[in-house]
Amino acid sequence: MTIPVLDPIIGYIDEPVDPALDLYEEIERLKREKNAVILAHYYQESAIQDIADYIGDSLGLARRAAETDAEIIVFAGVHFMAETAKILSPSKTVLLPDLNAGCSLADACPADAFAAFKEAYPDHIVISYINCSAETKALSDIICTSSNAEHIVRQIPEDQPIIFAPDKNLGRFVIKQTGRDMVLWDGVCIVHETFSEQKLVRLKTRYPDAPVLAHPECEEKVLRHADYVGSTSGILAFARSHSSDTFIVTTEEGILHQMQKDSPEKTFIPAPPESGCSCNQCPHMRLNTIEKLYLCLEHELPELIMDEAVRIKALKPIEKMMEMSLAIV
Ligand code: SF4
Repeated sequence: MTIPVLDPIIGYIDEPVDPALDLYEEIERLKREKNAVILAHYYQESAIQDIADYIGDSLGLARRAAETDAEIIVFAGVHFMAETAKILSPSKTVLLPDLNAGCSLADACPADAFAAFKEAYPDHIVISYINCSAETKALSDIICTSSNAEHIVRQIPEDQPIIFAPDKNLGRFVIKQTGRDMVLWDGVCIVHETFSEQKLVRLKTRYPDAPVLAHPECEEKVLRHADYVGSTSGILAFARSHSSDTFIVTTEEGILHQMQKDSPEKTFIPAPPESGCSCNQCPHMRLNTIEKLYLCLEHELPELIMDEAVRIKALKPIEKMMEMSLAIV
């Protein structure tokens, strides 16, 4: 067997996959043979969600990565998520089907610029959203996710000033919920910034009884029309338990697959983006495909490699988050 070479620019194993192969069977076989687990984010394509051992949001995925006894973690998500898995499980092999699966929020907060920013606020504690690089995590005091950001901020003493990075929309939402004045880093998610307030209002007029469910990475002008604002897990749970039969969903549309599986009798309408494109699909998340996932598991490449000194520094604020969010299921 020839050993494939991973081109770091391409970022994935670029070889043809026999179309006659049943990829579900092949991936299941490889998982068993290699003692591997597939962790997938809700924003992955449906085929990946269907083969995953666990699907979740960032908090749930981080917890699973810390707990698993599998030897290999295939992380079907983006780079910062695979990094978080490696930070929490350094002895495991962590694979990412496409190493170029990045994130606009993580890219918007380079560690060197963030270190300089921090210097202007020496008395501030730094709470960083998990959507940032390991190097930026290493500069933070506490990590948070959209599931626990408000809960964590509420635990910080009133007289302790806070820097919140890198998502200014989530930061503004937490400020509104808690009344805390925080210094915000100016970063956004390209997907959640794309929703059109005008089109959302028109959709609400057509479906007046449909609750609007939104992710806090959306802009304030969109969030003010929402009946529920929460993480992807929170959105799923809300739709499951609410009596309405129709919902308008304002987040990456990959979540609709789980919502529909969860509540097949209900109707989920994706909120429209500004332009007529598919901008509510994350282009980074969508770099992963079922074929790349199969090749990555077969060849155990690309592997997430991390500098040990950075990993140790980044672990502390993640452990702090885990400790401060024990009450969150
Ligand atoms: S949806 Fe936004 S925050 Fe999530 S990975 Fe994509 S760019 Fe990053």
